[in-house]
Formats: sequence, structure tokens, C-alpha cells
Amino acid sequence: MIKIGSHVGMNMPNLFLGSVQEAVSYGANTLMVYTGAPQNTRRTPLEKLRIEEAQTCMQNHQIDSFVVHAPYLINLANSVKPEIFRLGVEFLISELQRTVAMGSHTLILHPGSHVGAGSDTGINKLTEGLNEVLSASVDCNIALETMSGKGSEIGQTFEELARIYDGVKQNEKLRVCFDTCHIHDAGYPIVTDPDAVWTPFDRILGMDQIAVLHINDSLNPCGSHKDRHANIGHGMIGYGPLHEIVHMKAFDNIPMILETPWIAVDPKGKEKQAPYQREIAWLREP
Ligand code: FE
Ligand code: FE
Ligand code: ZN
Repeated sequence: MIKIGSHVGMNMPNLFLGSVQEAVSYGANTLMVYTGAPQNTRRTPLEKLRIEEAQTCMQNHQIDSFVVHAPYLINLANSVKPEIFRLGVEFLISELQRTVAMGSHTLILHPGSHVGAGSDTGINKLTEGLNEVLSASVDCNIALETMSGKGSEIGQTFEELARIYDGVKQNEKLRVCFDTCHIHDAGYPIVTDPDAVWTPFDRILGMDQIAVLHINDSLNPCGSHKDRHANIGHGMIGYGPLHEIVHMKAFDNIPMILETPWIAVDPKGKEKQAPYQREIAWLREP
């Protein structure tokens, strides 16, 4: 079964229940949430998230899995500022616990930025952090997201992700989140020669390591390292290649999440509408 949904908000007063209801309104059969604002560490206590009602709502709508995205401010690859690294380790441990309490076993993490120290140093710091985080025995995998390589981001090549696996003792708890916009912006020819993406991916990491896909079009050309998402069919990847990925046998039952921009419905761009209901239906078409 094709499992497709989008990222959804978590707002007062319905919190996680509201997230699930939003996903259902788009005709989704999976979803992705942040446990709070992606830019900060303020979190609503678990007791207030309405988790049980959210789970009942998922059951009623045949949603049997969803994923959680860790906030952007976690940067375990920062070897320059120890306090940033420390905050990242501690916050990631609490995010893993929240993810499990909400009923998911997949937490998506950006590998982070080396902030000028070079990718070797960044990767070493990241693996040190992941080793500390994963020693706390929690029933949750960390899915490392493939990145576009903007700024000093690490994780823009399959080889870099493989080196992270190599440095992590409990790497059976690592997975990959494959973001189509990021892969394209990183320079992989997902449009012109998809085999030249999947064949090395399978050799270097293994197709079975993909636990989530982010299905986004891109505003920029292949190799631009920009990371600007576009609506499906309105970017430089286009509908065809994205539709093909959504329908790949290898991704049967793997959650696919749209992170495409909301669309302005008035000329001034003040009022915006989620594109997800339309995009989900369009990508599901045979
Ligand atoms: Fe992400
Ligand atoms: Fe993404
Ligand atoms: Zn992105």
C-alpha cells in the first residue's frame, strides 16, 4: 500500500489530536509532526497532547504509522560550541522518549552542520553524540535525513551517511530519511538518470535503510545546494520523477511525507492554503 501524507501542525487546543485530524482532512494515511516549534525547545507536557484520542482517530482512519521530526536547532555536529552539542544530546534523548510515548518508532534528524570545522570533524562529533544518545535504551530509530549541502551541512552524500553508520555502535537503530528536493539539490540526477541514484544508494547504504521519504519538488537546478522546496510539478524535478518514486515497489508501506509550501490564495499572499489534499491525490493516481 502507498502510504502518503504531509507534515502537519500541532496547535492549541487539540494538539496531537488536531495533527491527526488535519492529516485525515487531506486524505492522508500517514503524517509527520514536530513535537513543538521546530526552532525552539519549549514543549507542551505529554499529558496535554491528547495522545490517546489521536491514536483512536488514527485507528478509525486506517493510519497505522506516522513519523516525528526533531527540531532544527539540534546540531550534534557542532564541535565548536560545547553547549550547543550538550543541548542537542539532551534534547534528542527527550525527543526519542516523546516519539515513543506518542506511538511512533521513527525520529527524523538532520545530521547537522560542521560550522566551519570541516566535515570529518563534524561527522566525528555527530557520531560521538549519537553514541551517547543511543546508549539510552529507547525503542525508537533515528532516521538521518539526506541534506542538500547548503552552508556547512553534512549528510549530502551517501558516503557521508555511511560514515555516520560506521561510527555509531548501535547503528541497527539508524535509518535514512530520503528527501527528493535535498537529493536533487545535492547533485544526484534523480530526474535524468534515477538508476545512478538508486544503484549507489543500495550499494553504499542499502535500500532497506530508507524508513521515510520526503517528497518535495525543488525550485532550483540539480546540484544547486539551495534547499528551497517547490510544489509538486512546479519545480525542477517535476511530477513524473516524483510520481515514479511514490510508486516504486521498494517503498510499499514506507511513509512518504510532503513538505511542499502552502499556496497563496489572494493576490497579496496573506491568505494561504495547504496544497496537500490535491498533491496527495495526484501522486496516488496510477
Ligand atoms: Fe528535514
Ligand atoms: Fe525534508
Ligand atoms: Zn528541505
